Amino acid sequence: MNAPHIITFGCRLNAFESEAMRRHAEAAGLSNAVIVNTCAVTAEAQRQARQAIRKARRSHPERPLIVTGCAAQTDGAAFAAMPETDAVLGNVEKLNAKAWRRLAQALSHAECSPPGDEPAPAVVETEKPVMISDIMAARRLAPLPVAGMSGRTRAFVQVQNGCNHRCTFCIIPFGRGNARSLPMEDVIAQVRAARNAGHREVVLTGVDLTSWGEDLPGQARLGDLVAAVLKAVPELERLRISSIDVAEIDETFLNVLAQEERLMPHLHLSLQAGDDMILKRMKRRHSRAQAVDFCARVRALRPDVVFGADLIAGFPTETEEMFANTLQLVEDCGLVWLHVFPFSPRPGTPAARMPQVPAATARARAQTLRAAGEQQKRALFDSLLGETMRVLVERPGLARAENHAEVMVPEALPVGEIVRVRITGHDGMRLNGVAA
Ligand code: SF4
Repeated sequence: MNAPHIITFGCRLNAFESEAMRRHAEAAGLSNAVIVNTCAVTAEAQRQARQAIRKARRSHPERPLIVTGCAAQTDGAAFAAMPETDAVLGNVEKLNAKAWRRLAQALSHAECSPPGDEPAPAVVETEKPVMISDIMAARRLAPLPVAGMSGRTRAFVQVQNGCNHRCTFCIIPFGRGNARSLPMEDVIAQVRAARNAGHREVVLTGVDLTSWGEDLPGQARLGDLVAAVLKAVPELERLRISSIDVAEIDETFLNVLAQEERLMPHLHLSLQAGDDMILKRMKRRHSRAQAVDFCARVRALRPDVVFGADLIAGFPTETEEMFANTLQLVEDCGLVWLHVFPFSPRPGTPAARMPQVPAATARARAQTLRAAGEQQKRALFDSLLGETMRVLVERPGLARAENHAEVMVPEALPVGEIVRVRITGHDGMRLNGVAA
């Protein structure tokens, strides 16, 4: 019997939600479906989704093709208009078992209608089922039927969704709605389920993770959640945090990071730029100096910490001097794992209406930033030669270190296990390790 064929774009949140959709589709009798879970962060991500849809239709002419995800939420009509698609689901509907049952009915030619007490989705005038409700009306985050991630050694657990900020370049809030948190007891249950399913590492993920708890009763923050998870699931060896906002991180989190070796020494920072004028025009909540101070402080608390960061190159109005400040930030903060995006104007965002930097300049600056990150990575790797590290073997011959580095290891080392290796070299992108 077929299993749903899921094509996932974008972030860990989408990867986690694809796992939930697999179960909903199977339960609704849509095991033969092709599901494209899209991303809207850049124009390129949307172009790739359309390309994947056309390719999937050619490869699977008989199977129902369903489009969902942030690009479907923000631009559903465009995907419904594609001859290759059979249905479009919004980001609330994709995680709703009832919506999948309705969809199965609709695809078997029953009339499409809104699922029970949920707000009526905007119906696009096609005979295709298009179920997209107002994402800003979403208030709650319910636990998803996911106990582990098939085919992965590390499990993602969604603890937060949506965002209340409105950075001027960002379309995410329009795809995912306002911030909402999964209650602590549900997070603990999901982490325990992932550990019981055999995952030695869990990654807590969300859109604006550091806002976790703000919408829940009480004053709990991300640090409290992390401390509670580590206490409640002592058998979990490795807990990792996906991405944080330096302006919002709480003191408890930093204390746990300083004291708890099961919290991985790897922080991915949503910095975006290293120039104060650009940060202001992005409507970010931190300054350049705050970012540098934060990294220095965390390094003092947890010397083995390694930072990653999101950076945008060529944001509107960015001059060579402003870009130089962002480039220098890579060194000033010691940023190793860089996710660099040439600015991509998103329809409807304020930044799309600002004076644009030529696309070629943005791409060239992105290349320069990536090169600076690789220099930091080489320096880190050189400093680790001869060290013994605990790594999680992710697939034959490849493991993940606690600081997020990829380590090439002997194929004989068992997948899914945490082993000790001695670092013998590197190729600038990955470390080499032998069993210690
Ligand atoms: S914090 Fe800003 S960049 Fe991040 S999701 Fe929210 S609006 Fe987008």
